[in-house]
This record gives sequence, structure tokens and C-alpha cells, in this order.
Amino acid sequence: MTPILISACLLGQPVRYDHSHKQMDHELLRRWRKEGRLIPICPEVAAGLPTPRPPAEIQNKRNGEDILHFQARIVDQHHNDLTTFFMSGAQLALELAQHHQTPIAILKESSPSCGSSRIYDGSFTGSTISGMGVTAALLTRHHIRVFNEHQLEEAAVFLAHYEA
Ligand code: SF4
Repeated sequence: MTPILISACLLGQPVRYDHSHKQMDHELLRRWRKEGRLIPICPEVAAGLPTPRPPAEIQNKRNGEDILHFQARIVDQHHNDLTTFFMSGAQLALELAQHHQTPIAILKESSPSCGSSRIYDGSFTGSTISGMGVTAALLTRHHIRVFNEHQLEEAAVFLAHYEA
């Protein structure tokens, strides 16, 4: 049974910056949970950031790859530089995925950690740009296939091929 790394907030854990969650009620998630496949992690909380916490964004329309190349910073709304926390969280997520030998992750879109297609642009105005967050970028660099919460069917197809 192939394990799946998943953003903890998608499973109802109140780990988001405002102490909320983004629990999804989807047949595939219910099945995967019943099968014991789901391995939840919140990279930001795993790295030691508190909940609640001020929202943080990758600055200047850069992305998670830029963070991994030390070419960008992540700051919160109070201008605290949290880059090392986000890099540490990404590393912990990668280690968890490698420990369970999972080839796949389902991560919450738009987050500076978990976003895999779009992320906030650093202006704290709700605007997004295309790009990956830090955890999604690090997992992808290590050949772990990242899907977002709107791509569960695609993830199921990937799993079916992987297990065939
Ligand atoms: Fe959810 Fe990821 Fe943000 Fe944690 S870092 S709250 S798991 S989107």
C-alpha cells in the first residue's frame, strides 16, 4: 500500500496561521484514510512555528525554488524573516516522505510551504503568482510527485500506475 504525504490542514488539523483548517470531504480522501495511506504533516508547525501565527509570504514574487537557492526570503506581516523555519519544515517533510518511501504528496495550494501551482506574491494583498512553495519545491526536486487538493483524481491515476 503506497503511502501518501498530505498537508495536515487538509485532514482537519487546525495548523493554519489563523488556527483554522481546510478539511476536505472527498471520497478518495476517505478511502485513502481508511486504507491507512495518509501521512499528515504541517511543515511550518513541524519546524517550530506556533499556531496561530502571522501570515507569511515569499517576498518579491519569488518562489520556493528561489528560497532553496538562497535567492529569496519569507517574511511574516511583522517583517520577521522566517526563511530558515520554512526551509527546515521542507526538510522535515522530505525526511518523513523518504522514511515512508512515498512517491506522492497532496499539498494545500497557495501556501508558501505547500503550494504546488500558485503561491501568494509577497504583497499580502491576496494576489497570487504561478510557482511552488518551499516544501513542494524540495519534494519535487527529490522526485516526489506533488498534487494539490484539486487534483485528487489525477493523484489516484498516478497511484494506480505506480502500483500496477
Ligand atoms: Fe497547511 Fe501546509 Fe500551511 Fe501547514 S504549511 S497550514 S500543512 S498549507
